[in-house]
Amino acid sequence: MFRADDTNDKAAAIEQPGGQIRKRGFHLGGRQTALGDGTLMVIAGPCAVEDRGQLLETAAAVAEAGAVGLRGGAYKPRTSPYSFQGLGEKGLELLAEARERTGLMVVTESTSLENLARVAQVADIIQIGSRNMQNFPLLTAAGAYQKPIVLKRGLAATIREWLDAAEYIRCAGNEQIILCERGIRTFETMTRNTLDLGAMALLQHQTDFPLMVDPSHGCGRRELVPALARAALAAGADSLLIEVHVHPDQALSDGQQSLSPEEFGRLMRELREIAAAMGRRIASIEGGQHGTAA
Ligand code: PEP
Ligand code: MN
Repeated sequence: MFRADDTNDKAAAIEQPGGQIRKRGFHLGGRQTALGDGTLMVIAGPCAVEDRGQLLETAAAVAEAGAVGLRGGAYKPRTSPYSFQGLGEKGLELLAEARERTGLMVVTESTSLENLARVAQVADIIQIGSRNMQNFPLLTAAGAYQKPIVLKRGLAATIREWLDAAEYIRCAGNEQIILCERGIRTFETMTRNTLDLGAMALLQHQTDFPLMVDPSHGCGRRELVPALARAALAAGADSLLIEVHVHPDQALSDGQQSLSPEEFGRLMRELREIAAAMGRRIASIEGGQHGTAA
């Protein structure tokens, strides 16, 4: 396993035989799960925390299927002010309770400077969303916390802009950065976004930050999510962020792109086969401890 100290030097950028840069590794959530050592870390959960039953049931289901992290927004950056805006602090409390019960790490978004401290108190991994990729004061402030940060690619951001945004976090003193490809806006209208797996391939030659892929926002359609998740793993993703809801058709946000627990379970089985074929491992929770298992 890597420690941040081991890789926090120029040696981390040594190129590997395929011309790819060796990943920066670090531990997550103060636990044993490491990122950047070839392990795949799957994080799953609802788009938004809606209520206690929805969150705890979804958390139990994704833990059972083999996720190591629970995603769920307490603060939601919604396009329309009339859409569900999230439960705020109550949502954070529920996420903490779900972690307590399942052992899952919590990944949740800070949408502004105003809620950053509260989010950082609960989150094992702080998410900075697409709409905030170039919110430089937020990046700088988030960088002051010694917690891993998922930096999502902006809706129409170039790879260079995305990497520059990550530098704001690094400059603030935090190098535990995970870059998350979540699709970009293109001329295509039949999918919500266009998942740029080409960026994933490129970044492995460009940066030592570990890479995450969010196939859910990447296409916006439940039936396409498994294929993109499989492709992302095969393309070298270190982590996947997948929307799962106990009752996708009743979700208050992003139900059309959320997998049911059954669909997620099936996908996890497929991912295990792909990981095995690649000689990679999928991170797992064992006895409440995070570790890795084939
Ligand atoms: C989310 O993860 O629910 C989200 C709002 O994502 P993005 O910032 O990629 O739109
Ligand atoms: Mn969502």
